[in-house]
Amino acid sequence: MERYEAYEKLGIERDVYEYCGRIIKSLEERFGRIDDMAEINQLKVLDAFRKNQVQEACLMGSTGYGYNDTGRDALERVYADIFHAEDALVRPQITCGTHALSLALLSNLRPGDSILSVSGRPYDTLEEVIGIRESRGSLKEYGIDYDEVLLKPDGGFDLEEIGRKIKKETKLIAIQRSKGYSDRRSFSVEQIGECIDHIRSLRDDLIIMVDNCYGEFVEDIEPTDVGADMAVGSLIKNPGGGLAPTGGYIAGKAECIENAARRLTCPGLGREVGASLGIMRDFYQGLFLAPTVTASALKGAVFAAGLYESLGFDVLPDGKEERYDIIQAVTFHREDALVAFCRGIQAASPVDSFVVPEPWDMPGYDSKVIMASGSFISGSSIELSADGPLREPYSVYFQGGLTWPHAKFGIMNSLQFLVRDGIIDRSKLR
Ligand SMILES: *Cc1c(COP(=O)(O)O)cnc(C)c1O
Repeated sequence: MERYEAYEKLGIERDVYEYCGRIIKSLEERFGRIDDMAEINQLKVLDAFRKNQVQEACLMGSTGYGYNDTGRDALERVYADIFHAEDALVRPQITCGTHALSLALLSNLRPGDSILSVSGRPYDTLEEVIGIRESRGSLKEYGIDYDEVLLKPDGGFDLEEIGRKIKKETKLIAIQRSKGYSDRRSFSVEQIGECIDHIRSLRDDLIIMVDNCYGEFVEDIEPTDVGADMAVGSLIKNPGGGLAPTGGYIAGKAECIENAARRLTCPGLGREVGASLGIMRDFYQGLFLAPTVTASALKGAVFAAGLYESLGFDVLPDGKEERYDIIQAVTFHREDALVAFCRGIQAASPVDSFVVPEPWDMPGYDSKVIMASGSFISGSSIELSADGPLREPYSVYFQGGLTWPHAKFGIMNSLQFLVRDGIIDRSKLR
């Protein structure tokens, strides 16, 4: 069978197929470099599995208190090795990325301490954790203060302003690697390292925490390789490899991890308790697959950038620049285009493909939002997904794809929907 026939069956028209094919052809070299990175990271992960003698018993899990859960403890050593860190906490009881970040902050700060975010305003959900937006139980209620340094107009760290804003009470520096859903650029690990070096030259007693969400395995080093005291993330993003059904991690300095363990459970018990139930196999296997899954998502992001850039839309990052996370933004300046894109992604999903996403008033947002997600793990954003607020500039944020063929089809289908709805003229595909 000719390859196109497989696409034709799924509703892709010939001109869309061939146009996408030409874009992908032009990206071969990029894809080669993404595969190289996956190869290096696959070996890094395997090395950590071998070194820690991961064995069948590790995959079983525990119940009740979870004492002597050798699988849970070995997995934490595997994470620590991958991050070249002293220690790690990797638990299903950490419910998501926001919880992991909140845990890292609450456990390592005391009343009177102050946080300084040096990558601008942190991710949305942290605003209530910190108390930037009033919220019950926030760090602010515990007498922990917050300040931030905005990025320079060129998107870089404002080192002078950081120097000015570090005060006696400052205890923890927060850095966010990925742009998340803002319109800045993401930071490379190297850039983060330079910023850390600068901060250390001013004060060597600060705890430096990096929000590592969406960044894991995109490069061959992680923030803990360049001096971060903690790297923090979610297991339903990159490091869960699409298999972890929940969970979060903190990797870093032993002291910081011990504090986090005692806050996650309680003083005295710390990391000794916490049943892993039946989840260990998914954590291990997901981590093992994470380098290639992340590479698939990256190829999808690069393809989406190249495709929509060629059709005249603004994309961030653009089709050529280096990338430091798996998120791709495409700006349409048209509501119907944003909606059609998300519907194309949804229709390409393995779960809920028949559902038609509608814009809705999501709590906490000041405009309607449309979301496409047909994932095996609810809300998982390492799986193919897209969303965007219905207001100017009508940008969609696209991420994920467990396999490259699936990410490819999803993007192709988004274009098919834009063409079908007459938003992109067929003549542009010649
Ligand atoms: C996703 C994300 C978070 C929060 O993670 P959740 O699992 O959604 O709570 C925090 N920071 C960044 C940069 C993220 O991308």
